[in-house]
Amino acid sequence: MKKILVTGGAGFLGSHLCERLLKEGNEVICLDNYFTGSKRNIVSLMNNPYFEVIRHDITQPFYIVVDQIYNLACPASPIHYQYDPIQTINTSVMGAVNMLELAHRINAKILQASTSEVYGDPFVHPQPEEYWGNVNPIGVRSCYDEGKRCAETLFFDYHRQNNVDIKVVRIFNTYGPHMHPNDGRVISNFIVQALQGKDITIYGTGEQTRSFCYCDDLIEGFIRMMNTDDSVTGPVNLGNPKEFTIKQLAELVIEMTGSKSKIVYQEAAQDDPQQRKPVIDKAKALLGWEPTVQLREGLEKTIEYFKGIL
Ligand code: NAD
Ligand code: UDP
Repeated sequence: MKKILVTGGAGFLGSHLCERLLKEGNEVICLDNYFTGSKRNIVSLMNNPYFEVIRHDITQPFYIVVDQIYNLACPASPIHYQYDPIQTINTSVMGAVNMLELAHRINAKILQASTSEVYGDPFVHPQPEEYWGNVNPIGVRSCYDEGKRCAETLFFDYHRQNNVDIKVVRIFNTYGPHMHPNDGRVISNFIVQALQGKDITIYGTGEQTRSFCYCDDLIEGFIRMMNTDDSVTGPVNLGNPKEFTIKQLAELVIEMTGSKSKIVYQEAAQDDPQQRKPVIDKAKALLGWEPTVQLREGLEKTIEYFKGIL
């Protein structure tokens, strides 16, 4: 049995990760300040004696002895990370320092939940890990993008300077049950709008693309990455390489929910990446990983979840 710390464990991905780690017989400590996470996401785990929840903000140091650390704490949706941008960048940067200091001190492996946002609005398509990205350093998304880029820098410097055993994964748009209904992300927005009979809001032309990964696939990738040998640091892209336009997604959600909602076009979001799709050759080669859940199948489960909570 391993002792594993999950920061951001009450969030969308963190709660799925805690559940999976507990199922595999580990002891799990979930650290969260509940900024975007919720007790509802982890309530089903509370009776498990090997699960412990601690309210803590990772911008402050924290001490515990564990074997592994998954660092997920950070608001991930544009609405949430732009609500208090200084806290967002602080969470990424100071949070990374605090968790890396801890990993160094206790000799634990540490995985960083980085993001495809490190590629910004990319000039290279699809995006391989070697691409350095095109990020506006002073725009409204910078608190998140640059925070995550700086966190990656810190991870690699702690690895080079202090020999910390690091694993960095770059997550591309992931969706599923436990997404926050008001987080403004495209899948949750479209499903909630469709189920409530409200207009489906496309920002911009709807021709911009994203590739959507179902949460269970992503968690499998996390676990495989954490369990690679010490020589594997990443960064490794984790995401679904099947690319959709936002308009295609809107039409699919309307069809699957049988909704009478209409599509309306609104102003494009600032610095909105126009194309995004991962190259996952590294994940395939190093982890033997690729997504298995098709968009339609994942959307079915996500729609069911939202029907239950709305
Ligand atoms: P989420 O907002 O649901 O989860 C983040 C969790 O971190 C929440 O529970 C929140 O309360 C907690 N948190 C935020 N700031 C904190 C702080 N200072 N101290 C302690 N806890 C704090 O988001 P998510 O989608 O589950 O994302 C998890 C991680 O994965 C994030 O680091 C995010 O950047 C990364 N990621 C997610 C996606 C995606 O598509 N879901 C894509 C790329 C990267
Ligand atoms: N988007 C949209 N309508 C919405 C929410 C998002 O058209 O109600 C668009 C958004 O402008 C972007 C894409 O969908 O082009 C994905 O947005 P999301 O916030 O989910 O993720 P990110 O931009 O961080 O990839």
